[in-house]
Parts: sequence; C-alpha cells; structure tokens
Amino acid sequence: MGGCGSGNRRQSGKRTTSDMWRLDVYYLHRNGMLAPGRASTLNWNRNGERIASIGMLAETGRIILKYRTRPPGGEWEDKEYPVALEWTACHLGGQRPWFLCPCCGRRVAVLYGGSVYACRHCHNLAYTCQREAVHSRLLSRALKIRGRLGWESDHGQKPKGMHQRTFERLAWEHDRFNAASWMALADKLNLLSSGDAGR
Ligand SMILES: [Zn+2]
Repeated sequence: MGGCGSGNRRQSGKRTTSDMWRLDVYYLHRNGMLAPGRASTLNWNRNGERIASIGMLAETGRIILKYRTRPPGGEWEDKEYPVALEWTACHLGGQRPWFLCPCCGRRVAVLYGGSVYACRHCHNLAYTCQREAVHSRLLSRALKIRGRLGWESDHGQKPKGMHQRTFERLAWEHDRFNAASWMALADKLNLLSSGDAGR
C-alpha cells in the first residue's frame, strides 16, 4: 500500500466527536475502502447512538457516496453521487489518494458532510454566501423602515405627524429585522442546507 502517511499515523478505532462528518481519504485507504468493488458503510455515533451513516461503493477512479439527508425542518432525501479519486506518487514510494471535491474539483484529503460532502473551502463559501444573502435581505428591510422613519443611524425619534401606533409598529419591525439580520450572520449552523451543490 506504499509508505504514504506512515510518518503521520493516527489512531484508528474510536472516533471522537471532532471526527464527525469528516470523510478522510487516508482512513478509507487504510481500511481498504477505496479498492474497486468494495462496498462499505461508515457510521458516526454519539453517546452510543448512531447519528449519521454513509454508504460507499468504490469503483476505479471514484467512490460513490450514498446516504440520506434532511435539511432542517424538511423531508429526508436520498443522495447518491460519485466523488472522483486521484492518486499521486509520493517520494517515499507508493501512491497517496485524494478526493476531488464534488463541488469545486479541488484535490483534498478530507470532505466534510453537511447535506453534501465537500471540501472545507466549499462549505465556508456556501455558508458565507448563504448567510450574507439572508443578512443583507433582512438588513435592507430594516433600512427601508429606517428611511420611512427618517432615522439617520440606528434608532431615532418619532417623525413629526406620524401616529404613535404607526411609529411603534415600524420601530418594532425595524428592530426585529435589524436584530434578525445580525443573527443570520452569527448563525453558525446548517452548513450547505440548500444542499444540491454536489449533483
Ligand atoms: Zn470544494
């Protein structure tokens, strides 16, 4: 199997929560799961309870991922798609495997699971775009209300001639959209919850 990674051997066996949702190409390689024709399953457990599972079928030059995913509040979906593998020679002899990220084609050692398995870069990118879109949509609603109220910065006085009740409603909506927009940026959950980037 070659000498790749032998200087960097990690313990197999017990997986910790920090390993959750990580698909490590070396782990698959060491366990023979990249051999063409080999079907295998990986389970992620927390406190003895299975929280995720992925089926894999290795073929020449690629591995098919099969699993079920459910976006927050949504329906279960079956996912099945290939991830290409690439082998490079290493100077100690032998070959080391890589995943080609199904989203961007980048050569990586680890894919991270959300609703799609992708490299860290793609997850960060999708996360950032998605959150920024929500953030700016909410913020622009807050700014629109701010315009109606004639507020220059964050929170101001009731404009002359506006009914108190109208003012209170607009001020409340403004605060709500404003707060929600920042919450959207702060929300660190739901990586890639839109979830079809790998197809
Ligand atoms: Zn990627």
